[in-house]
Amino acid sequence: MIDLKKIVLDEVAENFKRVEKISEQNTLKVLNAMRELKISDTHFKTSTGYAYGDIGREKLDALFAKIFCASSALVRTQFVSGTHALATALFGVLRPGDELISLTGEPYDTLQTVIGHAHPAKGSLKEFGVAYRELPLLNGKVDIAAIKNFITPKTRLALIQRSRGYSMREPLTTSDIEKICAAVKSVNKNCVTFVDNCYGEFVETREPVEVGADMAAGSLIKNIGGGLAPTGGYIVGKSDLVELASYRLTAPGMGNELGASLGTPRLLYQGLFMAPHVTAQALKGAIFAAGIFSKLGYKINPLPNEIRGDIIQAIELGTADKLIKFCRAIQNFSPVDSFAAPEPWDMPGYEDKVIMAAGTFVQGASIELSADAPLRKPYAVYLQGGLTFEHAVIGILAAAQILETE
Ligand SMILES: *Cc1c(COP(=O)(O)O)cnc(C)c1O
Repeated sequence: MIDLKKIVLDEVAENFKRVEKISEQNTLKVLNAMRELKISDTHFKTSTGYAYGDIGREKLDALFAKIFCASSALVRTQFVSGTHALATALFGVLRPGDELISLTGEPYDTLQTVIGHAHPAKGSLKEFGVAYRELPLLNGKVDIAAIKNFITPKTRLALIQRSRGYSMREPLTTSDIEKICAAVKSVNKNCVTFVDNCYGEFVETREPVEVGADMAAGSLIKNIGGGLAPTGGYIVGKSDLVELASYRLTAPGMGNELGASLGTPRLLYQGLFMAPHVTAQALKGAIFAAGIFSKLGYKINPLPNEIRGDIIQAIELGTADKLIKFCRAIQNFSPVDSFAAPEPWDMPGYEDKVIMAAGTFVQGASIELSADAPLRKPYAVYLQGGLTFEHAVIGILAAAQILETE
């Protein structure tokens, strides 16, 4: 394994340099936004109750808006997860009779539950009379040529998922997103282009709104929270759309003007500041894992030196047994709950049983070194995160070792 490590590190050296360069540019972007908006200690003060006039909350929204090149942002620990932020945006914008489409094939598992068309789900968009269709992928890629004929004048919102989710399809790059948004707008200007940005933040130097998306949303316990955000999600985009989402998060008429920060502001600001670097650490871990597991003969996606659109490394392990062993190794080499053995379980919002290794400081935070997978063919494990590259290397080599000593 020591030899293999050296060989892989040599082979990916150029790609690491690329990742470092992106991290440097994104750090500068975040830093300049913080300088321009004159972030100061006063913004870290906590608020309670209704929290009217919470300047820390307002500044953080402004900061996210600037970084994402959006006119407005809603960044809240009141979002319980990324799915909640995405669902809030969908329920905020869509009305009974509207049509929602997915342009990236089957959406992420929990979004399918929110939409309610793949399987019945209480409280889903389907129950509220929102129609849904999805454009299948073509050889694992978005069928851009087919978009024009797929959209109708009735289509209100097009969902575009940047990351691979639990699938072997490739994540989108921001230039893919640019082409997709342009195709949508060429037939229906009023169709809202909405990007599920989970796992994509700071992987490149551009973000979805910058390349033509009307709105994007994601989780604070993935890339953008830098490992420090204790919980939460965000929505960024056009002001009118973010406003609609805010009425769904709180209540009509209240919107973004309420919401106590309860001690979290510094963690959200500092996490944002750390996020470009932490994302780069996670990316290096993913690249390293790709190198090691391809050398061991496993089918991997993406390849070690392929351009990445998210921080996920998919590794096809082929059997449920190997999947479980892999996740247990990652858990065993985690700083928290190293003594626990993950078991496949029925996670809320997911159809298949899911196994999850997340020996993390923040529960389930997948910007920390973690591995998870639904128990279904081709038994691919999805590895992501690592607050430090060093930790990712240790965990990945431990997992490789266990599978090799079979
Ligand atoms: C993580 C993720 C989500 C949201 O998941 P949460 O666990 O609710 O934060 C949505 N879409 C994709 C593609 C994801 O990776």
